[in-house]
Amino acid sequence: MPYEKIPYKIYLEESEMPKYWYNVRADMKTKPAPLLNPGTGKPMTAEELSHVFCDELVAQELNNTDRLIPIPQEILDFYKMYRPSPLVRAYCLEKKLQTPAKIYYKFEGNNTSGSHKLNSAIAQAYYAKKQGLKGVTTETGAGQWGTALSMACSYFDLDCKVYMVKVSYEQKPFRREVMRTYGASVTPSPSTETAVGRKILEEFPGTNGSLGCAISEAVEAAVTREGYRYVLGSVLAQVLLHQSVIGMETKAALDKYGIKPDIIIGCAGGGSNLGGLISPFMGEKLRGEADYRFIAVEPASCPSLTRGKYVYDFCDTGKVCPLAKMYTLGSGFMPAPNHAGGLRYHGMSSILSELYDEGLMEATSVKQTDVFAAAEEFARVEGILPAPESSHAIRVAIDEALKCKETGEEKTIVFGLTGTGYFDMYAYEQFHNGTMTDYIPTDEEIAASLAKTPKLS
Ligand SMILES: *Cc1c(COP(=O)(O)O)cnc(C)c1O
Repeated sequence: MPYEKIPYKIYLEESEMPKYWYNVRADMKTKPAPLLNPGTGKPMTAEELSHVFCDELVAQELNNTDRLIPIPQEILDFYKMYRPSPLVRAYCLEKKLQTPAKIYYKFEGNNTSGSHKLNSAIAQAYYAKKQGLKGVTTETGAGQWGTALSMACSYFDLDCKVYMVKVSYEQKPFRREVMRTYGASVTPSPSTETAVGRKILEEFPGTNGSLGCAISEAVEAAVTREGYRYVLGSVLAQVLLHQSVIGMETKAALDKYGIKPDIIIGCAGGGSNLGGLISPFMGEKLRGEADYRFIAVEPASCPSLTRGKYVYDFCDTGKVCPLAKMYTLGSGFMPAPNHAGGLRYHGMSSILSELYDEGLMEATSVKQTDVFAAAEEFARVEGILPAPESSHAIRVAIDEALKCKETGEEKTIVFGLTGTGYFDMYAYEQFHNGTMTDYIPTDEEIAASLAKTPKLS
């Protein structure tokens, strides 16, 4: 089919929507390293994990063998309300850049939570409900995950307790009210509700809170309450599995028009949207059926893949979670104020870490002001106001398209546009006023934080 005949937006028919999640671990020769019990140093058993996570999600977390996992009908029904998400040909951006490259973006911001996070939130809420639980607890930083989970919990009539990093709770009151609209209870963290919160408040009165602290509070709230479990919005293998719906749809839409991408790009915080987007394509690469370039884009202020180390580390600052082998900056790493809240995690999904370590995926980091310049350029021609996180992928997609302009190559570039930025206008304001900074950590700062990763015998 000639390219000119390709619609502006490629939507799948309902009958063409994926019925399965794709588990890339099944095709990996070297499986991602297992989660370890921080006490014993041994792989976490299903029994141990089941105190914190829902049973079915534990099974998914440990499943390295099943390639396709059926999406339950109840989740498919929910997906139908906001999926398929459009795969959009960025004709206007191509024209503006005067590039021969063909640029597509998969837009996940078409739901009230404003990001891809709803894809996993609804799955996790479903399994909690199916297990007969009363509710779930979680943490949220910038608020996207908490919003997605609130929506999912209200759909399945589950109680939802969100510990929101105090500084975000105060600075992003509208995010908080969206969560409360969906019935969640939102507590600024650290709080006096948990032992760990009280301890932190005693030690650091007046602290603004951190993601690590909020995780510790949410885990404590789950394990000390009958009928509650803890859920997490990124990093874990189960989350990448649920997010594979993004890649499955993208692949189906491209196949429908006989389009083969050369480069697939995504922003990487904990790795869930990127992992989900690239999974089915990575599967083809792993099976030797096709080749693609995959590029993970991270902020220069929090560069876990490009400047971190591939070791076992704590997943949270409170050190209550299992150890994960991943590219990490150290669990005590404090990224400089950066407006892409969803990309401030110190580590990276174990699956993506292994693929990157084997050279199957590339990674690059970009400066905050360059990211916002790309966001604005994109918004002005394509209309969508992108989230700062998503704009990391836009930056690199534009840079790759500009390289094609130099060489005259007609490459096909696909990138993940993970969400919208309506709650990030303070960041846009700083960019417009010229007060946005680009802090890049020094080698010494990273080394000092990495020195505190656990020593395993
Ligand atoms: C949370 C978030 C991200 C980063 O999380 P990943 O798990 O790395 O995908 C990216 N974009 C948006 C809009 C987010 O909300």
